[in-house]
Amino acid sequence: ESVYLNGEWLAPEAAKVSVFDRGFLFADGIYEVVPVYHGHPFLLEDHLARLERSLAALEIANPGQAFWLDLIQQLLTRNHSQDALVYIQVTRGAEAKRSHLPQGPLQPTIFASVSAMPVHWDVPTPVKVTLLDDIRWLRCDIKSISLLGNIMLKQQAQACGALEPLLHRNGLVTEGASSNYFAVKDGAIYTAPTDHLILPGITRMWVLKLAKELAIPVHEQAFSVADLAQLDELFLTSSSREVQPIGQIDDIIIGQGGCGEITERLVHAFHASKRQLSAQ
Ligand code: PMP
Repeated sequence: ESVYLNGEWLAPEAAKVSVFDRGFLFADGIYEVVPVYHGHPFLLEDHLARLERSLAALEIANPGQAFWLDLIQQLLTRNHSQDALVYIQVTRGAEAKRSHLPQGPLQPTIFASVSAMPVHWDVPTPVKVTLLDDIRWLRCDIKSISLLGNIMLKQQAQACGALEPLLHRNGLVTEGASSNYFAVKDGAIYTAPTDHLILPGITRMWVLKLAKELAIPVHEQAFSVADLAQLDELFLTSSSREVQPIGQIDDIIIGQGGCGEITERLVHAFHASKRQLSAQ
């Protein structure tokens, strides 16, 4: 197994960064996660576009598209990866003295690793989520490594026996700690719009495209906490969970508590697109 750190390929335990790295001191950095099926990165251009937007938002230098493509290809080749998740992290870099304000342009710290992810083709068993107040900051569109809010919320969800928190702000559902939510009501799909309150999930975008192809009406419009008891279906999306049906929010059972019909159609459409894009 080899990981990439600042131009070197190393054994994971040999990869070390300075304690003066701003990633360590301030969580001053961003990350990206790319799913890989059968050796092919899935929706890679979209993931790289988001990585570039995150870097631009923090004014961290971007080594460019060709660099990222080569890095990911080498990572997959060196690790003989087939079904996997690529992790990329970029911090602003290390400096001599701790100071909130970065002292001039730094050499960014670039780290990348890959881990195996068994691919599945079934309809996932519905899970439970728990409604929690979205305590995070107001730039959730940046894929920042500062994830304290997400971690605290995930721990609270786990304590409730839930897979994910269902976060809300001002009465509207935003997203999860590491996923986007979709509600189904009267045959139409609702999901929060891509503003500063959510991460624009790549899986979210892809599922919206699949829904349109299936002629399912979609509304990029946040659904409200008041609507939750009346939903027909609910599911979440992420690169690692793909399309995950939800059977229960706290004590509220969604529909019959199983996987709804529209969710199931999207799960199958998602599997088909995985098969198709990784065969090219
Ligand atoms: N929202 C948050 C807060 C996340 O961390 C993630 C997963 N990284 C997502 C949504 C889903 O994004 P994607 O579909 O690109 O994995």
